[in-house]
Amino acid sequence: MPPGARADRARVRAVLFDVDDTLFDHRYASRAGLAALRRTHPALRTVDFATVDRRYRRLLESSWFRRVLAGEITPAESRRHRMRALFRSVGVRLGPDAATEVVDEYRRAYGRHRRAVPGAAAVLDELGARARIAAVSNNFTRDQAETLGAVGLLDRIDRVIGVDVAGCAKPDPRIYRRALAEVGARPGEAVMVGDNWTADVVGAHRAGIRPVWFRREPGKPPVAPPAAVIRSFRPTAPAVERILGPMRGPLGRARP
Ligand SMILES: [Mg+2]
Repeated sequence: MPPGARADRARVRAVLFDVDDTLFDHRYASRAGLAALRRTHPALRTVDFATVDRRYRRLLESSWFRRVLAGEITPAESRRHRMRALFRSVGVRLGPDAATEVVDEYRRAYGRHRRAVPGAAAVLDELGARARIAAVSNNFTRDQAETLGAVGLLDRIDRVIGVDVAGCAKPDPRIYRRALAEVGARPGEAVMVGDNWTADVVGAHRAGIRPVWFRREPGKPPVAPPAAVIRSFRPTAPAVERILGPMRGPLGRARP
């Protein structure tokens, strides 16, 4: 390790993590939920699984925040809305009761398949011995704390900051500032690890925090690659190494 890297490493006082699809394996649980629906609803088998998965994911991204956070609809309404839209895409109209039943069916299977992203616990243990850990999520604080508890990660995290606590969502730098205040670190002493390019990588960078892109799925980055990309938390040592430094900007240039 070059001498400079060791000096930089000493500056990491806080590591922030996104929750969904970074610490918590949302896609695994979601795919289990969709697979369960396909078993009982033949219409969902008229298209392949990848199509169902992609459509549901897009619906999740498009409707969740904007409308729930604006107070226009409740999270439960948002779930029914998504499920009706998914079924409409395969030619089935769900009435209100049927939509509720389908949502419940999805959520039962989802709940049974909740798990941490493989390797996350060991990485948090390593990092937690050296830095404060915060979870920063574009979801509600209590729900995310419950989820992290259910998958055995909550005890490894010092603070959970959701949109309700922060009053705004990533990539807004204010949510990052709130997280840093909670763990007592300055932007230059922190790292943000997350799977979403805009919310986690661009957002952290704008807040002056070094981003690490957690990218499990193959594919090219939307723009120039960030300083660090992690494809897995396993094995532990190289993942921790990547997260801890050296402190560099998203284009790989060392900060002055
Ligand atoms: Mg995420």
